[in-house]
Amino acid sequence: MQSMRYDAIVVGSGISGGWAAKELTEKGLRVLLLERGRNVEHVKDYVNATKAPWEYLHRGGRTYAMEQAYPVLKRDLLNEKNLAFWVNEKDSPYTEIKRFDWYRGYQVGGRSLTWGRQSYRWSDYDFEANAKEGIAIDWPIRYSDLAPWYDHVETHAGISGSRDGLPQLPDGQYLPPMPLNCGEELVAGSLKNAFGGKRHMIIGRTANATKPLEGRAPCQYRNACWLGCPYGAYFSTQSSTLPAAVKTGKLTLKPWSIVTEVLYDKDRKRATGVRVLDAVSEKTTDYAAKVIFICASTLNSTWLLMRSATDVWPDGLGSSSGELGHNLMDHHFRCGAEGTLPGLDDKYYYGRRPNGIYVPRYRNLFGDKRDYLRGFGYQGAASREGWTRAVKELGVGAEFKDEMSLPGPWKFGATAFGEMLPNHANQIGIDTQKKDKWGLPVLKIDCATGENERLMRKDMINDMAEMLEQAGAKSIKTFDTGSYPGMAIHEMGTARMGRDPKTSVLNSHNQVWDAPNVFVTDGSCMVSTACQNPSLTYMALTARAVDFAVNELNRRNL
Ligand SMILES: Cc1cc2nc3c(=O)[nH]c(=O)nc-3n(C[C@H](O)[C@H](O)[C@H](O)COP(=O)(O)OP(=O)(O)OC[C@H]3O[C@@H](n4cnc5c(N)ncnc54)[C@H](O)[C@@H]3O)c2cc1C
Ligand code: SF4
Repeated sequence: MQSMRYDAIVVGSGISGGWAAKELTEKGLRVLLLERGRNVEHVKDYVNATKAPWEYLHRGGRTYAMEQAYPVLKRDLLNEKNLAFWVNEKDSPYTEIKRFDWYRGYQVGGRSLTWGRQSYRWSDYDFEANAKEGIAIDWPIRYSDLAPWYDHVETHAGISGSRDGLPQLPDGQYLPPMPLNCGEELVAGSLKNAFGGKRHMIIGRTANATKPLEGRAPCQYRNACWLGCPYGAYFSTQSSTLPAAVKTGKLTLKPWSIVTEVLYDKDRKRATGVRVLDAVSEKTTDYAAKVIFICASTLNSTWLLMRSATDVWPDGLGSSSGELGHNLMDHHFRCGAEGTLPGLDDKYYYGRRPNGIYVPRYRNLFGDKRDYLRGFGYQGAASREGWTRAVKELGVGAEFKDEMSLPGPWKFGATAFGEMLPNHANQIGIDTQKKDKWGLPVLKIDCATGENERLMRKDMINDMAEMLEQAGAKSIKTFDTGSYPGMAIHEMGTARMGRDPKTSVLNSHNQVWDAPNVFVTDGSCMVSTACQNPSLTYMALTARAVDFAVNELNRRNL
């Protein structure tokens, strides 16, 4: 077993790890970025990015064999087009005590390659809610702590969006917004005058560049982002943070490196480095560093902390509070309403905008009081139906074909994303009975939504129907297709931040209380979920924690 020394080690090269690597190298540290999966080279490895549907063996769909190999992905996202960006489920299984859909991407870039790019700031309504309502523990930070870091990450990542002046959804440093289409303008316009002016519909704030950025062309409106972008127009590790880190000359990237343990010196109360299992050769190597950033994604970071048990902390590094592994959360979604928009049949739109609309939270705010806590936002879009509407109607003949060559009616649909409350009982642990391909014990997950979420879903369904009715939509239908934790792919918690080492795993700078030179800055640190998509907040927290860590290093405190 050899040992090599760096200034900093970053575990995981997804959204959070990419930011850690960029910020640390730009501050002059020699950084080792360890990634358990294969390398995915920007552009070269986006092998399906410009394929037409008929160029796929199965027209981009799924087969029985794929369903057998990907029993979790099959529940929602499985398709032939971007299969290579998902974890091999046979090699890396996990245990579901209760159903938990865990969608993972194990490769350089992680899920930054496949994410939906919706990027919203959180506000003090989110950071203060736990304390005001006596739920779980208080966040140790407020919006003002994060605001400059939101500015910092938005500017580099390239977020397009409108500035709307809404206190529950603070404005940021945006590239020009994508336009609403006429169907969305109709619904947005009707909301302006209804519901006491408290509900708004805005264009999604998305990490798709609408102007050129360094090394990146603007979005071409192809709506194919989950295949990798040959223009580098959407934010990913590959398009944005990795090139910045490489440019410093201070980065070493090692794919196929499964970090299996953080090495801890109990006398110095500091981590000394990490142990790595080479996923190909299965050889083990130790790497030493002054500071370690764990960014392996919510559940994997906690798995790593749990695996780093010592006789001082038998339940894992960071386990002294008894909270490590607890308070797992996700958003709940897949319910809302859809309808047909009349009076627009002479209108169309151009291009395939890779973005939709957003209705920011309005429930339990500004004097509104419900029989549940917190709230939800909507994501959706208006579009004209295409020829596939024919499948339902099973028509034949020339007249029918002519009809199907015309655009169909304008439809609008939106699903709500609701906040899930933290609950100590929602937890993960190590399943010592089940092993992965490399003989490593896997995670077991035990998580369910509760009564607050059940009550909230009624409004999530009915409010959109009410808004569509207000906009004059016809044939309005509500839907609730069921939501299991994990499905929203916004898993958060299990190593929460806090003010007190007795009730939290990390302090206000994402430092593990029990090992101050270890920082965890992905979704595991979250204390609550808000209802906005969380990744922009992971980026800001990561950049903020790096700044703190480097200052502490310079002061010789780490
Ligand atoms: C289809 C989809 C749509 C989404 N839409 C949105 C959205 O619109 N907005 C939003 O905010 N979020 C969205 N998300 C969620 C977003 O992708 C995640 O929040 C984000 O990627 C988390 O970043 P991360 O760095 O923590 O984890 P990841 O991006 O998952 O990266 C973690 C990396 O760590 C590596 N790793 C894991 N364990 C180890 C180990 N032991 N050793 C070494 N490396 C390891 C993994 O291989 C991976 O590369 C979406 C996700 C998906 C899949
Ligand atoms: S829609 Fe835009 S960002 Fe997405 S893949 Fe196409 S060009 Fe790239």
